[in-house]
Amino acid sequence: MARYLARNANAERRWSFLDGPITANNPMGVHHAWGRTYKDLFQRYHTMLGERQRYQNGYDCQGLWIEVEAERELGFKNKRDIESYGIDRFVEYCKARTQRFADRITEQSIRLGMWMDWEHSYYTNSDENNYTIWAFLAACHERGLIYKGHDVMPWCPRCGTGLSNMELATEGYRELSHLSLTVRLPITSSGHEDEDLLVWTTTPWTLSSNVAAAVHPELTYVLVEGDNGRRWWLSHGSQPRMAPGATVLREARGADLVGLLYAGPFDELPAAAGVEHRVVPWDEVSDEEGTGIVHIAPGCGQEDFALSKQFGLAVIDPIDEFGRFKEGFGWQSGRYAGADDPDGADLAREVADDLEAKGLLVRREQYRHSYPVCWRCGTQAVFRLVDEWFIAMDPLRAELADATRTAEWLPQGIGLEERELDWLRNMADWMISKKRYYGLALPIWVCDGCDAWEVIGSHDELRERAVAGWDEFEGHSPHRPWIDAVKIACRSCGGQAQRIRDVGNPWLDAGIVGQSTMGADWYPADFVTESFPGQFRNWFYALLTESTVMTGRPPFKTLFGYALLRDEHGEEMHKSKGNAIPFDDAASEIGADVMRWMFSSVNPAVNMNFGYHLAHEEVRRFFLPLWNTYGFFVTYARLDGWTPSSPEADGDAAARTLLDRWILSRLPAPRAGGLGCLGWAARARASRGAGAVC
Ligand SMILES: [Zn+2]
Ligand SMILES: [Zn+2]
Repeated sequence: MARYLARNANAERRWSFLDGPITANNPMGVHHAWGRTYKDLFQRYHTMLGERQRYQNGYDCQGLWIEVEAERELGFKNKRDIESYGIDRFVEYCKARTQRFADRITEQSIRLGMWMDWEHSYYTNSDENNYTIWAFLAACHERGLIYKGHDVMPWCPRCGTGLSNMELATEGYRELSHLSLTVRLPITSSGHEDEDLLVWTTTPWTLSSNVAAAVHPELTYVLVEGDNGRRWWLSHGSQPRMAPGATVLREARGADLVGLLYAGPFDELPAAAGVEHRVVPWDEVSDEEGTGIVHIAPGCGQEDFALSKQFGLAVIDPIDEFGRFKEGFGWQSGRYAGADDPDGADLAREVADDLEAKGLLVRREQYRHSYPVCWRCGTQAVFRLVDEWFIAMDPLRAELADATRTAEWLPQGIGLEERELDWLRNMADWMISKKRYYGLALPIWVCDGCDAWEVIGSHDELRERAVAGWDEFEGHSPHRPWIDAVKIACRSCGGQAQRIRDVGNPWLDAGIVGQSTMGADWYPADFVTESFPGQFRNWFYALLTESTVMTGRPPFKTLFGYALLRDEHGEEMHKSKGNAIPFDDAASEIGADVMRWMFSSVNPAVNMNFGYHLAHEEVRRFFLPLWNTYGFFVTYARLDGWTPSSPEADGDAAARTLLDRWILSRLPAPRAGGLGCLGWAARARASRGAGAVC
């Protein structure tokens, strides 16, 4: 390998490759080997063309995914366990763990036949990578893009962290069944005696935080005969479903109901004391689901929170970072809000019983819907009011779209560029903070006295500004808890500012590697490759954003996206399903060459089915004839005392044998800066045989 890496050391740099870092968290699965085969293949091709290369592999080594695996290994249940273990010990543990798996993946990659300069891999937890992200965030701040948001976010109560919308969009939803309740809320405004608003909810735990009920001002609502001498308001369209057969007494437009006051479902709780519940207008209300009257709890829903700002509604903020009710919620205080209570209790059913006892419950039923879960640990998300830090995306959208269009997106004709542009068009602001321990230390210092904050752009800037804690920090990597010791002087009031305790969204770490690893000689990369469905909202998006802010262009000229690896039956592979194949098993069972052949010969645009039966077929179809041909050749070449001629020594193509000339004629002609055989194959139509020229 050393000879191979040094082979073109003095040659021209015509093509450069940027590796998307593999997470150093576990040994490889076969799905990793697909992309790593492409990476190796393209580099080998350019090496064959006599070009100098970097051969730099990358490891992703910090962030929540690393923490979750470390917690599992240490037997921790939640953040409290980390704090009592010690943040410093936990961070050191995570670092050592990533090094262990980086070494393991290096061995596995060599077994796959991937030739890289393994001594010089980059690691996203390096000082250089972290400080380059600081520079990026400082550039964002200079443009006024960074802000602190006070908002309701999806939250994982186990990890104790918010979930960004890119995380949810990628693998954040599951089909789940929850108890849904239909509840009556008695109207207290005069002239509406014995009338109720009928509301429906799939999150009973949020009812104690109710402050308003929303109606669509243009929808028609009906008053119908209910139970026990009560009369119920609900939308005309929902009546056949929610109150079938009930006599309609009166009709009104939603706008006529706006402003009515009603009694809340948990007014007896201290947390609801003094809250005035009223009907508000909202254009998003529909009567396709529920009753056409929407229960609004601004402390538990993003849209609810936006409405509270619009109408000056009270905000009841019910749960803590572990998803448990705060004080002031009666029997619910201290209880877990989510449906997957680790104590095994069922809060939703108890809420229903409570409402039934108060005579407010109209109906309970199971309801199946798509619900957000934590992408790392699978815990059901709850929505919670938090302070998080964001990068505003609106001012960047046009630039990012332009940058995206300057790159070439392969394979062509399957709309990759369009899908990326579509994501960029609809992408919400980027939530960059996580209330965790082992990750990029967000370089935001907030004044204790006046709340003013700044973004520090480098190690040197911090040293210059430090007024306390530098000695404690010096000599450590910019990680918690050491970095947290450093205080700077506030520029507004002269008081002391300390770092917010949040760490960064892990995609910041991987998205900066174009800036932190390539150097001017190699930047931008001619080529990157990763699974497109896996990365267009993640690595590709982070690369585009961070590089465009810092250099005005993407860090790659060509992006080659391949599809997803499935099992033999076309099913998604999951460890939990038992159909995932560890790389080592496959390497022992079928060998790395067969794997590489399979990965290289499929159409990258469609999901690939992978399994041992298919591999054995491939061996019969291709490898046995190849091996037999080679064996035949070697046997007779030996008998004849034949030695291979070297074209360099010949210096005369015509002197080559007919067989050599035929083989060379089948090799696609090299193009300067071109893509090589696979790019050619990807452009050429996507048939299974098309890639076989490699
Ligand atoms: Zn989680
Ligand atoms: Zn200040």
